[in-house]
Amino acid sequence: MPILGDYHTHTVFSHGHGSIEDNVKAAISGGLKEIAITDHGFYHDFYGVRRMDLGNMIDEVKRLRSQYPQIKIYLGIEANLVSSSGDVDIEESDYEWLDVLICGYHKCTSTTSIKEYCNFLLPNFVSGITKFSAKQVVKNTDAYIKALERYKIDIISHPNYGIKTDVKEIAKAAAHYGTLLELNGKKVSMTDEEIMSVLETNVGLIIDSDAHSPEKVGYFGVPLSYVDRLNIPKERIANFNKLPVFRSKNERADDKSKR
Ligand SMILES: [Zn+2]
Ligand SMILES: [Zn+2]
Repeated sequence: MPILGDYHTHTVFSHGHGSIEDNVKAAISGGLKEIAITDHGFYHDFYGVRRMDLGNMIDEVKRLRSQYPQIKIYLGIEANLVSSSGDVDIEESDYEWLDVLICGYHKCTSTTSIKEYCNFLLPNFVSGITKFSAKQVVKNTDAYIKALERYKIDIISHPNYGIKTDVKEIAKAAAHYGTLLELNGKKVSMTDEEIMSVLETNVGLIIDSDAHSPEKVGYFGVPLSYVDRLNIPKERIANFNKLPVFRSKNERADDKSKR
């Protein structure tokens, strides 16, 4: 299998059906070298990880790392973009345990203020049912770019899923910061034209399953069909016959060398 790691999987700690160990075992039997556990961010109204569970998740991943040394296990989160100012639902202290930070837009989250509810959450929710105005697209694009500047985001999950943005502008900013854009295993929400426009920038892509059950871990049929059909150069995909080096890792190494 050409895809060597799956960096976006869910467990019972958010919206998934299996345990962390179930996902790890599935990844091993699928021949993967690396897996990330990335449950939904804290502000999700229904599926967000509860802060009280975090200690257990960290301990469990530590235990599994010694039990299954044949695979590298990352603990991350699929955080939510929750405001037009680029707020993402993590705190500075979360970088201590985060091995990989994914950020995506999801419906049904909390935000930072009533103003942002009226400014960002509500209009996007309504536009998702009706139509996104050009003004909203600009605002959303800007929100992602601000988030990329403010947080060490490694991966943007499912661009344009449930939201409309100018993905090429986001891709340019992501390329600048070393953030990868995901071709999601459940559904690719970018149009073919949008994908081609993203490829005109220097951004890297990554293929993930977004598995919500262990059986789906390491299943990449949907994004691989896009790679074939659109002739996406394999070298643009960070986990195609190679392993990705994430932005947050690089920036942490930089922080250390500055100290
Ligand atoms: Zn998602
Ligand atoms: Zn997900």
